[in-house]
Amino acid sequence: MSKVFLIGAGASAEAGYPITKELIYPVAHYLVEYKKNEKGRPSRLEQYLGTVYSLDEHGLESAACLWDEFVNVPSGQAPKRLPDTELMPSIMEILSVVDVAIAEQWSLGPSREGHSPSRKSRELKGNELQRVRERLVAALLTGFMQLDRTRPYHHAFELLAKSLHRDDVVVTTNWDTLLDRAICCETSAPPAYGTLGARLVDYLGHDLKQQETSESRRLYKLHGSFNWQYCPRCGNLYVNPNKIIMPVEGARLSSLDRECHCGAEMDGLVVTPSFVKRYLNVHLGNIWRGAQKALEAAREWIFVGYSLPNDDLWIRAMLLRAVVIRRGQKTPPIIHMVSHKKDLELESRYRQLFQADIQFHPAGFLSFLAQ
Ligand SMILES: [Zn+2]
Repeated sequence: MSKVFLIGAGASAEAGYPITKELIYPVAHYLVEYKKNEKGRPSRLEQYLGTVYSLDEHGLESAACLWDEFVNVPSGQAPKRLPDTELMPSIMEILSVVDVAIAEQWSLGPSREGHSPSRKSRELKGNELQRVRERLVAALLTGFMQLDRTRPYHHAFELLAKSLHRDDVVVTTNWDTLLDRAICCETSAPPAYGTLGARLVDYLGHDLKQQETSESRRLYKLHGSFNWQYCPRCGNLYVNPNKIIMPVEGARLSSLDRECHCGAEMDGLVVTPSFVKRYLNVHLGNIWRGAQKALEAAREWIFVGYSLPNDDLWIRAMLLRAVVIRRGQKTPPIIHMVSHKKDLELESRYRQLFQADIQFHPAGFLSFLAQ
């Protein structure tokens, strides 16, 4: 009688977190702060965006202000949604082009350095693009750390965590720590992440007393998480269920321990929005397999705030593999889709993929859980 919850960015958005198309705002904020801290010297990410997309420097300031207002909402008020902007292309576009340019060994340089004759322009290829990419990820991480400080809880996730049975599985595409924290608090045990082993550690890298147990509720994070560190030498994964510990070049996390027990420097493990995603990491492979197994067995599939985008081929293919297996066993799942408003295009995407009866719940996750 188990359930699989597939939680997308729309579910965290109900807690005041940005959805993918709004992620350009924390990037603008990061660039403005960077320049302030570096006495007017722009980040290489800004140089890249200026060269490739003719980024409007003045627009950056106003976008950064809007992000500030979004993060620091006076208590008791709900954050206003961020407006659509044409200031920069989407984060999806920026990351996809950088990823393809690295893979195909393209150059987009030299960078445009109009203002200062003393400033050297950069060749935007290879390692330089890799560093531009690191700055983008650092900008996203910095934005989510601000939210983690100002709004660390989501009531709907707390209710979800309370209602979970041992056989239920929560699968999510989100990197934020709202679900981790809710499960940790409500079940008094850290979540089981479905990785090939994970050490639960504190901020300083010491092992936590409480590790995953057989009672832990399962939380499978398909795109990795901001509260993970991965060792590219021995393959260990470190997790802090309550705090962001992802290390990134360019994000200021001075007290964070980045050294693996094996002595090598730890990296982050997140799959960023891009048309060319890669899931070769061994831990992610295991998580995806666990998610599919759960879909093969569960009585109900409950999608929450997941928009089922046409280009998300990996999730679509996983769902279809599970559908085909279930058809062979003649046990189709009961499918629910929870969103925060009626959306006909969304409903049509779900119907087209599954060709089945789907129960739509457009009144939000809280109201669904209260049923
Ligand atoms: Zn290691």
